Amino acid sequence: MSLISYDTNIGTWGVPIPALHCQCCGHAELVADMVDEVADGVQKDGLDFWDDVDLSRLKTLTTFRCQTCGNADLHRFSKEYDILDVWFGKSFLPF
Ligand SMILES: [Zn+2]
Repeated sequence: MSLISYDTNIGTWGVPIPALHCQCCGHAELVADMVDEVADGVQKDGLDFWDDVDLSRLKTLTTFRCQTCGNADLHRFSKEYDILDVWFGKSFLPF
């Protein structure tokens, strides 16, 4: 499984964070089953899967609701496009 991608906009390598933001209340959520489905999609369709996928196509979100406000309309969620920096250990290297 590989979720590592290169962000051409900011010039860094990183791991996409497949989190959802509820547009009704601002709650952010990471759905474990959806993370697995996104990882499978990246393996099958490539690194742009998360950027390109319509949330309504994800089977693991069929019955998903915001845990804070109960919003169940997938069109009222936005995807997280930030990435985790994979260079966290570079300060351990002497060069
Ligand atoms: Zn909400």
